Parts: sequence; C-alpha cells; structure tokens
Amino acid sequence: MRKTTCPVRVGRVTIGGGAPVVVQSMTNTRSGDYGATLEQINMLFEAGSDLVRVAVPDSEAALVFKKLVLKSPGPLIADIHFDVKLAYMSLDAGASKIRINPGNIGGRAKLAELARRAMSYNVPLRVGVNSGSLEKSLLKKHGGATAAALVESALGFLETLEEIGFTDLVVSLKASDVYTTISAYRFFAEKKSYPLHIGVTGAGPPSTGSIKNAVGIGSLLTDGIGDTIRVSLTASPLEEIRVARQILQSLGLRKFTPELISCPTCGRCEVELVPLVAAVEKMLEAYKMPVKVAIMGCVVNGPGEAKEADVGISAGKKKGILFRRGQVIKTVRQSRLLEALKEELDLMAAQSGT
Ligand code: SF4
Repeated sequence: MRKTTCPVRVGRVTIGGGAPVVVQSMTNTRSGDYGATLEQINMLFEAGSDLVRVAVPDSEAALVFKKLVLKSPGPLIADIHFDVKLAYMSLDAGASKIRINPGNIGGRAKLAELARRAMSYNVPLRVGVNSGSLEKSLLKKHGGATAAALVESALGFLETLEEIGFTDLVVSLKASDVYTTISAYRFFAEKKSYPLHIGVTGAGPPSTGSIKNAVGIGSLLTDGIGDTIRVSLTASPLEEIRVARQILQSLGLRKFTPELISCPTCGRCEVELVPLVAAVEKMLEAYKMPVKVAIMGCVVNGPGEAKEADVGISAGKKKGILFRRGQVIKTVRQSRLLEALKEELDLMAAQSGT
C-alpha cells in the first residue's frame, strides 16, 4: 500500500498523490555544452526518463539551461549548489523544478527568498538533504550522519519554508549507506506527507551500485514509500534509467517492457541456456509490450515452473516446446525455438497494437 503524499506538479509530470512512481536521471555532460547536453536529454527521455535534471554550476550554464528548456522534449530540473542566484536564473529560464541542497545554499534567509520566487512561478523545490553536507551542529548532536540527523536537518529547513507558506516541495534524504538511507526515509515518512524522491547516493559502478539501489529503493517502495526515484550509478545515465525501470517493473509498480524469466538450470537442462537467454534478451529489446517471457531448460518442469509467463519456450532433446501460461501450444525443433518464440511475440505485438 503506497503511503499517501501531497501531489506536486513538475511541468506535465505529477510526483506523489498516488501518481505512478516517476523515473528521473541527471545529465553528466559538461553543463555549458549545449549540444552534448541536449543530445543526452533527448536520449534520456527517449529511454523512458519522466524528468531530467541538469547541473547548473555557474551563470554560463544557467544561460545554456535556458536554451535547453526551450528544446527539451520533457520537464527539466535545475540542480543548484552554493549560489542561490543560479536558482533565480534557472527559475527565470523556465525550470520545472529546482533541486537545492539547503545546507549549502547560504542560510535560511536565502532559502526563504528562493521559495518566494519559486512560488511566484508555481515551481516546486526539492529539499535534497545529503549525508555529505549536514550541519556541523547536527553531526555533533547525533554522532555523525545518522538517519535521525538527516531527518532533523530536513525538518529544520521545512520549518523555514512552511513559515512563509511554501509547501510545493519534494524531499530527499540521501546517504551512501543503504541502511541509513532506508531508516531516514522511513522515519521521515512517519512525520510528513511531502512526496519523496528516493535513492542511494554514491552507489558506485553498475555491478554493485545496481544492487545497492535495488535494495535501498526496493525496500522503501515495498514499504509504500517513494514517489520518484533516481538510481545513482557511476555509468551512463541511460543505465540508471534501465535499472530504475527494472526496479519498478519487478515490484509491479509500472510496466514498460517485456520481462524475462529464465531458470537457473540444473542437471535436467537440455540446452546451452546461457547463450539462448542472452539471444532472447537481445531480441526483446525490439518489443515495447509488457509481457512475461520465460526461457526454461527442460520440457518436463519448464512450463510448470513458469506458469505465470505469458509466453515461453522449454528446451528438450533435439526438440523444444512453445507455451503460453503453462499450456503447450507447439513442439518445434530445438534449432527453431528462437524463431518460434519471435513469431509468437510478433503475433502478440500485432494483437496488442504495440
Ligand atoms: S526448468 Fe528444468 S532445467 Fe530449468 S531448473 Fe527447472 S528442472 Fe532444471
């Protein structure tokens, strides 16, 4: 059961209020490089990002951001650190949301002034508290960047914003430690109903970072916590989108593409399953429909073990079977299994109009 949060509009996208969990990523091209950044923004939206964040580290980048907003196919978020004037410029440039780290924006008075300006544009802010930039007093009080320290920091900044009547907010409480991250969001979600941007910061390369993100984001989503996710990886942001979508799809929160089920193989396996699964994985990239496709290693147990699959193949000696929802629909030569699966998928795609 998803926790109820207040909806926040970010351009055409709604975060919170029961809306589908929003996928976002961030460009990693040089901020002042208009051409490269626009190209990456286009690729990210094409890959399925609902929102894209762009770092605005100086006034040159703020001018480029203005041009990017005009050409972007979807809402852009300006990511601001240290200099509140860059946030003002990004608002003027047409940002759909401003992400700030309130700990480094220059004090409560500047935070309040930014909120007033954001209010006049009807643009939300993300209060992005980070374990790396917590107030010294809180680090001392809590003995480090604990979950309680992250939450107390966020609540302090929210108090400043609420005092001036600004509640058009998304909140994040990120740490690179997965358990701290999970604890902070759980603790915060009990106290406030602002929509939450969830993620594990500094998660590392895809091999290990995908797992940290899946555990951290997945645990929170399973608790019903989280309205938008950013998978953080030291990799192409396109990889972040792929992993984010996989996390949401594996929890049944959104459906994007075919889901591949394959058996772990055992002594009954009748085929070289690893290359077969790799070939099917590649083949599925061409399909947009959210079906479950199973590739199983033996005809005896395969269809039964993959009953929930919409379509699947099981290999046998020289022959294999094609099945739908556990029911065998065709027996084919083993060498024709892949082809038979493709024919069936093409048929399903035509029927679903995708
Ligand atoms: S489907 Fe067959 S080969 Fe695969 S794990 Fe099950 S019993 Fe083993």
